[in-house]
Amino acid sequence: MSWDFETEPEFQRELDWIDQFVRQEVEPLDYVLESPYDVTNPKRNRLVRPLQAEVRKRKLWACHLEPELGGQGYGQLKLALMNEILGRSRFAPTVFGCQAPDSGNSEILAKYGTPEQKKRYLEPLLANEIVSCFSMTEPQGGADPKVFQTRAELRGDNWVINGEKWFSSNARYASFLITMAVTDPDAPPYQRLSTFIVPMDTPGLTVVRNVGVGHEREGTHAYLRYQDVQIPKDHLLGPRGGGFVVAQTRLGGGRIHHAMRTVGQVRKAFDLMCERALSRTTQGSLLADKQMVQEKIADSWIDIESFRLLVLRTAWRIDRYRDYLKVRKDIAAVKAQMPKVFHDVAVRALQIHGSLGVTPEMPFVDQVIESFVMGLADGPTEVHKITLARQILREYKATDGLFPSGHIPALREAALKKYANILELEVASQ
Ligand SMILES: Cc1cc2nc3c(=O)[nH]c(=O)nc-3n(C[C@H](O)[C@H](O)[C@H](O)COP(=O)(O)OP(=O)(O)OC[C@H]3O[C@@H](n4cnc5c(N)ncnc54)[C@H](O)[C@@H]3O)c2cc1C
Repeated sequence: MSWDFETEPEFQRELDWIDQFVRQEVEPLDYVLESPYDVTNPKRNRLVRPLQAEVRKRKLWACHLEPELGGQGYGQLKLALMNEILGRSRFAPTVFGCQAPDSGNSEILAKYGTPEQKKRYLEPLLANEIVSCFSMTEPQGGADPKVFQTRAELRGDNWVINGEKWFSSNARYASFLITMAVTDPDAPPYQRLSTFIVPMDTPGLTVVRNVGVGHEREGTHAYLRYQDVQIPKDHLLGPRGGGFVVAQTRLGGGRIHHAMRTVGQVRKAFDLMCERALSRTTQGSLLADKQMVQEKIADSWIDIESFRLLVLRTAWRIDRYRDYLKVRKDIAAVKAQMPKVFHDVAVRALQIHGSLGVTPEMPFVDQVIESFVMGLADGPTEVHKITLARQILREYKATDGLFPSGHIPALREAALKKYANILELEVASQ
């Protein structure tokens, strides 16, 4: 019997340290610095580097990775407990060396990279000397890899890439892109794509514009054009035609890591909601005493705690099976639940804050937009619900003894027959 909802005291001490460190040292950076990804900003580096050194000293750096890659090999469950603290702050994942998309890209490089690729790209990435970008989505669609048109052709010793990519996040700060392109157009749909490492300064690669989200006029999600972009042959990452499988390596982990951090973000909205309810008075009583406010608090707590349990259970299953395919259903469920919980809690917190809630002085408007981002990035909610339902139905199909519809009346008949004697006795004794 091993159902246990407690954290070992030793690791709890680490979590307590992380919580205090993030609140006191890291969260303040969120208010004064622009992007955690801008490794060329000397002011950012002056503030971030000493904090990263402290995290390394405490042996909490890059906890998503195994020890041979400079991580701690803690596994996903411990990572989940850490990430729900880090999720409170924009800068915390960078300070702890586990920020997206570099975390997922480093997983790909670790699994598929050649020794040269690891030396040149993975090592500085793990040290946060450089940052990276994942360039997959195209203007004509992201949810369906079959529509991708960007082509890579082998000419002599070089791959030549032509096409357009959309929403390549952080390309403006990245030293290299991990790019998906069609290499084998006549192969079956899921064997047409390959993955490449493209240095950002390669001639022919241009940023059409940096697209923003919400109110941002200029953002960090690059619309990229690849025009005869030539990269050496050895910049193919993983097997030719294996792009889809390579991408799944990062997306499985990426999705659950987003969910872990989202727990932290939603809890932040919830904390603010409770503080407001206990401090604001209207029409003679605290908001906390109004039943409709109480309902918002109760619903939010239930949403957060049930989502958190699903995230932790999924993390536990990843550690147990060490195979993302075995937890596809769980990850799809987490991914589908995440935007709804995030949205609903942020909207309730915004409402309870009145006019203050819609201002940029509070985080709620950004959180609502971010909740929509969570329902799109790494695949739209609909696609994950389809995956979840298909997996569930496949499991049902695979079980023996499926009944045709109308089996309940048959079961009732059988039960009546089985217990006929006893039932008659009971009827008779009344
Ligand atoms: C903030 C942000 C950051 C991102 N960062 C990156 C990045 O770094 N790299 C990258 O490559 N991509 C990135 N993306 C792109 C993201 O992966 C895509 O937006 C996503 O895959 C959906 O693709 P799309 O936007 O082209 O929507 P489409 O594929 O056009 O889908 C549009 C809508 O159609 C519906 N839909 C789609 N498929 C189905 C279906 N099978 N059944 C029912 N309904 C469906 C959904 O409502 C979906 O939202 C990012 C997106 C956002 C918002």
